[in-house]
Amino acid sequence: MPDSVLAGGVPSIPEFRPTRKSVFTDRAQRLRDLADGHAMQEYLLFASALARAQAAELEVYPDTPVPDPAQLEHCQQHGLPPLSIDSAQPAGWQQGLLRLLDALNQDALPPEAVRIANELRDEDNTALERDQEHMFAGAYAEIDSGRAPFIGAALQVHWVKMALRLGERGRSAGVDFGLCPVCGSPPVVSVVRSGGAEQGLRYLVCSLCASEWHVVRVKCTSCASTKNISYLFIEGSNDAVKAECCDECKTYRKILYLDKDNHMESIADDLATLALDMLVDQKGFRRVGPNLLLSPG
Ligand SMILES: [Zn+2]
Ligand SMILES: [Zn+2]
Repeated sequence: MPDSVLAGGVPSIPEFRPTRKSVFTDRAQRLRDLADGHAMQEYLLFASALARAQAAELEVYPDTPVPDPAQLEHCQQHGLPPLSIDSAQPAGWQQGLLRLLDALNQDALPPEAVRIANELRDEDNTALERDQEHMFAGAYAEIDSGRAPFIGAALQVHWVKMALRLGERGRSAGVDFGLCPVCGSPPVVSVVRSGGAEQGLRYLVCSLCASEWHVVRVKCTSCASTKNISYLFIEGSNDAVKAECCDECKTYRKILYLDKDNHMESIADDLATLALDMLVDQKGFRRVGPNLLLSPG
């Protein structure tokens, strides 16, 4: 009997999908596929090269300390994410950033990105930590827009590495609504899954560690309202990606329907549908899903 079926035959919902080792490889491939003939081809290829470098970096990333069983138990009891971004300053990601820059295929980068990558090599840790603090505080406008994707990419590797070490144990129940139960970051998009025990279920995808957690559909993933939710998409598109808009808090987050396109990937397909963001912004909704590979501004 699959884990998702209780002894009484009542299906239980798989509440949590841990991050995967292949997350960056899958993302790099999807970005490459999406880039073909796309209006944002250059940017998607840049993001693909960055994700490819992240995959290489993940392979060699040193084992980062993770909470022991007693600390995990404490997090469970208090509804705290075990790998919280609010904990002490993370160590080691700055060296990871340097390796990531080395792993980058510079031929795939626009000249401006090569210049920024070279600048970052000489950057001191204090400046990097300031960028990281702004990112975790949601103050994206405070980070130089050219640097942001590199900083975000390095931090993603650090957190994915830790989340992989914990696996299922990394999830804490009772974390604040709308935040990752592993690291406490906001989600980038939500995904309605297709096939198996998760058929038709909706999961939020962490912008940082790529863990996924279940949230019922037709519920605002920001304020939890179930009233006045609407779905906007671009006329003539295949409506595999929509913007879930909430009239209560006037925010939106994209929702990806895998039954319409099973190859979609959270960060890649978000980047490839920025035209939808423009449409939704014009309707007066504010975006709440940060994409760490996106240059803000
Ligand atoms: Zn997370
Ligand atoms: Zn809302």
